[in-house]
Amino acid sequence: MEKKQFQAESKRLLEMMINSIYTQREIFLRELISNSSDAIDKIYYKALTDDSLVFDKDSYFIKVIADKTNRTLTIRDTGIGMTKEDLENNLGIIAKSGSLAFKKENEAKDGHNIIGQFGVGFYSAFMVADVVTVTSKALGSDTAYKWESTGADGYTIETAEKDSVGTEIVLQIKANTEDDNYDEYLDEYRLKAIIKKYSDFIRYPIKMDVAGKRPKEGTENEFEDYQEEQQLNSMVPIWRKNKSELTPEDYEKFYHEKHYGFDKPLKHIHVSADGAVVYQAILFVPESMPFDYYSKEYEKGLELYANGVLIMNKCADLLPDYFSFVKGMVDSESLSLNISREMLQHDRQLKLIAKNIQSKIKGQLQSMLKDEREKYETFYKAFGRQLKFGVYSDYGTHKDVLQDLLMFHSSKEKKLVTLDEYIARMPEDQKYIYYASGESMERIDKLPQTELVTDKGYEILYFTDDIDEFAIKMIMTYKEKEFKSVSSGDLGIEADDKSETEAETNDNKELFEYMTSLLSGKVTNVKASKRLKKHPVCLSTDGDVTIEMEKILNAMPNNPNVKAEKVLEINMNHEVFGSLKDAFEKDKEKLNLYTALLYNQALLIEGLPLQDPVEFTNDICKIMV
Ligand code: ADP
Repeated sequence: MEKKQFQAESKRLLEMMINSIYTQREIFLRELISNSSDAIDKIYYKALTDDSLVFDKDSYFIKVIADKTNRTLTIRDTGIGMTKEDLENNLGIIAKSGSLAFKKENEAKDGHNIIGQFGVGFYSAFMVADVVTVTSKALGSDTAYKWESTGADGYTIETAEKDSVGTEIVLQIKANTEDDNYDEYLDEYRLKAIIKKYSDFIRYPIKMDVAGKRPKEGTENEFEDYQEEQQLNSMVPIWRKNKSELTPEDYEKFYHEKHYGFDKPLKHIHVSADGAVVYQAILFVPESMPFDYYSKEYEKGLELYANGVLIMNKCADLLPDYFSFVKGMVDSESLSLNISREMLQHDRQLKLIAKNIQSKIKGQLQSMLKDEREKYETFYKAFGRQLKFGVYSDYGTHKDVLQDLLMFHSSKEKKLVTLDEYIARMPEDQKYIYYASGESMERIDKLPQTELVTDKGYEILYFTDDIDEFAIKMIMTYKEKEFKSVSSGDLGIEADDKSETEAETNDNKELFEYMTSLLSGKVTNVKASKRLKKHPVCLSTDGDVTIEMEKILNAMPNNPNVKAEKVLEINMNHEVFGSLKDAFEKDKEKLNLYTALLYNQALLIEGLPLQDPVEFTNDICKIMV
C-alpha cells in the first residue's frame, strides 16, 4: 500500500496544531460532529432537489460510540460520504493558497487565530488520537475507501468494506501521560456533556449507547446492566429559540462553532421577523478584523438557510460591501429550496431580507455608538475604514446611511469624535468643519496651516487615513456645514488685521509677482498669508484637489497625474519677509535663492518630495558661507 505525504504546508500546520494550539482539546468532537451534520445536510439538500432520492428522516443521524477496551471513539454518520478523490482532496490538504502565505508570516506569532480562520476541523482529531481511520462510501458509489493516518507523516488510502452510504471515523485515543488525561474522551458522561455543550443545536439526532443499571424484573434488590440508545442533542437550532432563553455565552458558542471567527464577537443581533417577510437571523459584529479582510480572498456573505436547510455558505447579496465584516446566518421559510444562485439574485424575498438586515445592523451600530462608546470605538478601529469606503463608493449613494457612524480623531482631545459631536460643540462664529490631512496626528499638529484655525479655538478633524478626504468629498456638507481643509485657499476666517494684510499685499505686489514668475509651473501664486502666525511659509491649495489627495492619487498604480493648484503663502510678520524685501530691492540673485529655499521648505513640511534635493542642500550651504 502506498503511503502518501501531506502537502508540506499541511504538515507544518498539523504539527503546530497537535502541539497545543487548541487549548481546549474537547472541541475535536464538535468539529467532527459538525462535519457529519454538514454531510447529512448535503444528502438532504440533494434529496429535496432530486426526485430519485428520498430523504427518510429516521435514517439520518450521527452515532457516537466509545469503546474503552480498545480505546477507540467512533463517530459515524449517514451523510453523503466521500469518494477516494474527496478523501484525498479534503483530508490531504489543509489550507488553500491565499491563506498559506498568511500562515507563514504569522506562524510564530499566534497559532491560535490561524486555526480558527481556516476551520481545519478534521485535523483536530489528532489532538486526542494517535491514529485516525476514516471509512467512507459516497452517495452513488459502489466502492468504499479507508483513509488512515497517524498524524504528520502522511496517510494511506485503500478500498474497504462498507455497506451503507456515509462516513465512519475511528479515533485511536492516545494513552494517558503524566500531564494529560485522554481517558475522558472514552467516558460516557464526559462525552455526553461535551456534545450537549457544543452540538446541542445540530439538526440531526446525535445518538449514543448509554449504559445503565436497572432493577432486575421479578427480583428484589437485584440489578442488571443494560444498554440504551439515547439522543443527546435537543436539535432545535439556536435561531429558532426564544431570545429570552439564550445567554450571551450561547451566542458566543454559536459564533465559534460556526467558525465565524476566533475572536469574541462584539455584538450579536438576533432577528425574528414575521412581517412582510418571515425570517430568522443571527448576526455578529466581530471584534477584530479577519487577517484577510482587505485581500481578494475575503468573501463577504451570510449563511443562507431555506427552512432550516443550509443552501448557501456565503450569500453575498445579503450584505452591502460596507457591512461586509458582519458574520452570521439567515433562515427563511419564504425562500424556495431549489433556488439557483442566479435566481436568488433576483429574488424579491431575498432583497427584502437584505434591506431589513441592513437597517438592523445600522440600528445596532448606532445604539452601540450611543450606549457603549468604548465597544463602538473598538469596532470602529477595526472596521471604520470599511464604513468610509462605503461612503466613498458608488458615488456617495450610501452616505446617508453611513455618515452618522463615522468618527475621526480631533485636535480638541485627540479622541475620536462623530461629526454630530463636532457640530454640537462648534463656536457660533465657526462656519466650516475644519480638517487637516496628514500621515499622523503628530505631523498634522506641526503643520503651519493649522495655526490660524487653532488660534481661533476651532477644532480640527485629523484625516490620517488615505480614504478620509475622498469620503468627505462625497458627503460635502454635514448638517448644513461644509467641510474645509485647513490648507484650502479661503478658510472662511477673517484675519483680525485684514485691512492691514491687504494693504501690505498691495504694497508688495511686485515682489509677489516676481516670486510667482520664479516658481512658474510649480505654484500658481505667491501671496501674503492670512493664516500663518509663527512659521515663515506654507503651501495652500486653490480648487478641489488638496495636496494630500495629490499624494494619494499619484501613489496609485494607474497614476492619473492629478496636481493640486498650489499657492505659496508667506508670513509677512516673519523676519524672513524683511530679508525677501531687502533682496528684492538690492540683490535679485539672493531673492532667487531665498525663493527656492522657501518653496522647498514648504514642500518638506507637506511631506512632498523635493525635485532636486542636492540643489536644495547646495542652496543651504550658500547661505552659510
Ligand atoms: P471544513 O469542515 O472546515 O471544510 P474539515 O477539515 O473539517 O474542514 O473537513 C474538510 C472537508 O472534508 C469537509 O469540507 C468535507 O468536504 C469533508 N468531510 C469531513 N468530514 C466529513 C464527513 N463526515 N462526511 C463527508 N465529508 C466530510
